[in-house]
Amino acid sequence: GLASKKDDDMITPRMPHFDYSPPPYDGPAGDEILNKRREFLSPSMFYFYEKPLNLVHGKMQYLYDDNGRRYLDAFGGIATVSCGHCHPDVVEAIINQTKRLQHSTILYLNHTITDFAEALASKLPGDLKVVFFTNSGTEANELAMMMARLYTGRHDIISLRNAYHGNAAATMGTTGQSIWKFNVVQSGVHHTINPDPYRGVFGSDGEKYAKDVEDLIQFGTSGKVAAFMSESIQGVGGIVELAPGYLPAVYNIIRKAGGLCIADEVQAGFARIGSHFWGFENQGVVPDIVTMAKGIGNGIPLGAVVTTPEIAQVLTQHNYFNTFGGNPVCTAAGLAVLKVIEKEKLQENAHVVGSYLKERLLAIKDKYEIVGDVRGKGLMLGVELVTDRELKTPARAETLHIMDKIKDMGVLIGKGGFYGNVFRITPPLCFTKEDADFLVDVMDYALSKI
Ligand code: PLP
Repeated sequence: GLASKKDDDMITPRMPHFDYSPPPYDGPAGDEILNKRREFLSPSMFYFYEKPLNLVHGKMQYLYDDNGRRYLDAFGGIATVSCGHCHPDVVEAIINQTKRLQHSTILYLNHTITDFAEALASKLPGDLKVVFFTNSGTEANELAMMMARLYTGRHDIISLRNAYHGNAAATMGTTGQSIWKFNVVQSGVHHTINPDPYRGVFGSDGEKYAKDVEDLIQFGTSGKVAAFMSESIQGVGGIVELAPGYLPAVYNIIRKAGGLCIADEVQAGFARIGSHFWGFENQGVVPDIVTMAKGIGNGIPLGAVVTTPEIAQVLTQHNYFNTFGGNPVCTAAGLAVLKVIEKEKLQENAHVVGSYLKERLLAIKDKYEIVGDVRGKGLMLGVELVTDRELKTPARAETLHIMDKIKDMGVLIGKGGFYGNVFRITPPLCFTKEDADFLVDVMDYALSKI
């Protein structure tokens, strides 16, 4: 029995049945780990919940804590777990490769690395077929920007306000949120107006926002740009779908100015949005460089930059090397992920379950004044909480409170947006309709109690 949806006698929703028992945990308790963490890990580290969970086991869309309590992982790691936690096929691929050859580099031949590069290329449109492997999304974006600068011989890069592209020098520069930027030298980076349909000045008119890119090039640069870089749906920024028509208009402007278009698919790519395999396809554009990470290894450290042979050529004139990029264990995981997505029709599932979930979330918006916006595509959805719908005042404290309450009821979700008032729902793509019902019933229950 799922929860009753009647307002008056709302009962605590019950988690869907899941036929699995984790092995008993005999490791240290959460308090002990937390103490060690405070002593030995960087003090700048943050965590979810006042008392962070000690998660010790994962199975598909579920996680288990040290007491064997089950949680529905509606955040999917951080949109990293695409197939499901410890998916048997991915685990098996990792184990088999680890036994055969646990480490190699591109100095030698290794078919696992090459096979995954070929498989990735087959998922991309046009001439996008040369792959460079990295270990993270940050590294992939750093490399993409460097390639664009080398290829064009120019320095200026345009990115979006509210973007998140990573935490190294160049990527922290293109990131467009003060909360994620320290005192970096933001060399040659220009932030354009965010085409945010909910909070943006031009509403859903993508072409109007695009005009600002033209303006920036003319008035903010020498007129010569190396690249434009953006996500197709902003993740960390609070699941912001770029206004329709935005990317085609901007890509035109950038290409006319002689620059390259970089698509950061770290979060939206790899079947997550359901309707398409890549987020940029939703706006009908073909980038010059595509970056990816997170879901491509089901959470294993793996990133990639894919570009055209012509652009890739620039690196043959330089010594570009990455010790761990494309490690055979990671690329074996990547290959398994692609096979699972196909075999289990996870893109279709993201579309079907995601559409259903979004509909149910929209109904929640009708019911509660505090829900200001519901947005996103497939299994990349956002729910923004505001204390005043007219003024769109961020309901930050309420967001934290509800997140905690939801966790107590067995559901983990993410949080994001500049104001920290957007729930991020990015579960593993094996998420079911029953999971979606449970998630919404739990949110409904928590919202009814504030
Ligand atoms: N790009 C996007 C869109 C991201 O969401 C992230 C991470 O959240 C990154 C880049 C950086 O990736 P990583 O944390 O693997 O360096």
